[in-house]
Amino acid sequence: MSYWKPLRLRTLPTACIVLVACLSFPSLVAVAQQAQIGRDQALEAFAAMQPIDVHVHVFKTDPTFQTLLERLHLTLQDILVVDDTLAYRKQLEAQITDAWALVRLSHGHVFLCTTFDPYKFAEPSFDVDAVKQIDRDFAQGAVAVKIWKNIGMEIKNPDGKFIMPDDPKFAPIYKDIARHGKTLMTHVAEPDVAWGPPDPSDPSWSYYQENPQWFLYNKPGFPSKRQILDARDHVLAENPDLRMVGVHLGSMEKNLDEIGAHFDRYPNFAVDMAARMEYLMIAPPAKVRAFLIKYQDRVLYGTDLDLVATANVQESLEEWQSTYARDWKFLATGQTFEYAGRKVQGLELPTPVLQKIFRSNALHWIPGL
Ligand SMILES: [Zn+2]
Repeated sequence: MSYWKPLRLRTLPTACIVLVACLSFPSLVAVAQQAQIGRDQALEAFAAMQPIDVHVHVFKTDPTFQTLLERLHLTLQDILVVDDTLAYRKQLEAQITDAWALVRLSHGHVFLCTTFDPYKFAEPSFDVDAVKQIDRDFAQGAVAVKIWKNIGMEIKNPDGKFIMPDDPKFAPIYKDIARHGKTLMTHVAEPDVAWGPPDPSDPSWSYYQENPQWFLYNKPGFPSKRQILDARDHVLAENPDLRMVGVHLGSMEKNLDEIGAHFDRYPNFAVDMAARMEYLMIAPPAKVRAFLIKYQDRVLYGTDLDLVATANVQESLEEWQSTYARDWKFLATGQTFEYAGRKVQGLELPTPVLQKIFRSNALHWIPGL
């Protein structure tokens, strides 16, 4: 595995300095070396899969970031979202322009999942304009289209009703994506905890502390999670030729049986694991393992990692590497480890299953990657 050697050579001087500096604290040296070796070995094995992370949000080009992609043999799908609460994310065309710059500079490591602007829903030419724009993006190499939770949980019709994923105005867009053989990435609804009751032990709880606009407990008038997911399922049933990846475990993060039932019912449906690995880590390990083996062709690896324009790149890259190492340890090894104050049991999935989750399922479900 010659690709790993340059990293080792580069980190060698640092390792020597740490070793010399810590000679008077032998126990600290042992602990630091153990932790470091664990992560490096995990990242090395992860890189050997030529992994594809189908769910990231990168808003910055940076040479050290590119070096990480090359070192980890990593391919990314960069996903765009129009979010009217953030100045930059409100501007779709600026996001698309920046994303193409990132894709071009990545030497084949980054691919684009575009989106359309759902806040223009009430405009008479909404569907025609959206199709025109995504066709332009497909022509330039976009591999997929994303819809986001603002459909179902935020944007309203002029008549005051929440627009849902199966609104007839979206039908020409879905047909167009299917006709081009592209993939629809759906982030609709949220984890159960968004509808309450409050639960500080839930892995997503801190997100709602920071983003209370999406916490719907005691807020009357919003659609139920069931209504939103039913609308998503309606799209699956109405568009059997449309490949759909339900991101974040299809928002069924606490119910593997329900995800499996969806796979059985809809052959055009797969899920990604982005930002929901912790739910799998707290579920019974034997059940998660059996699920991932039974549905080994339907689950794609994704993280929801981001690199925002204002990011401290070094800190972000630490987080990226820790996440990849953690996920590798959880899915591929049989070791137990601590994460977020919990003891996690590694699943030790068979290598052919790991190859599907970390790479080949992405190639199958999102052609063009
Ligand atoms: Zn995301």
